[in-house]
Amino acid sequence: MKRIIVSTSEKFQILNITQKVEENIKELNEGVVLVFLPHATAGLMLEEDEEGLKRDIIKKLREIVPEDGKYEHNKIDDNAHAHILSGMVKQFVILPVKNGRFVRGTWQEILLLEFDGPREREVIIELIPS
Ligand code: ZN
Repeated sequence: MKRIIVSTSEKFQILNITQKVEENIKELNEGVVLVFLPHATAGLMLEEDEEGLKRDIIKKLREIVPEDGKYEHNKIDDNAHAHILSGMVKQFVILPVKNGRFVRGTWQEILLLEFDGPREREVIIELIPS
């Protein structure tokens, strides 16, 4: 198991972590990689790293789960929206690997979605040979 740390700088933010993750899978000839976030207020998504699309994704998610909604969790912690979005987006992605590189579509990047930043986020990388 490997771990990398990613720092987010905004409350809502999308960071492309593909290169950082791919640097850690070179030794895997063939198999799959689990990329896992041990966090309940951020998520991972495979998507295109395009500025307009990233703003669209954040805007749409914030419309679906508004920050100022009435949430019971906000009586103890002010981030219910972030928990709900994290659960919806999910906190992991699994990708096939061939010759130390991800097998993925041209427009598929590993995006880390921050919903309660700024924070340090840990990313766990588990290499699973086939
Ligand atoms: Zn909370």
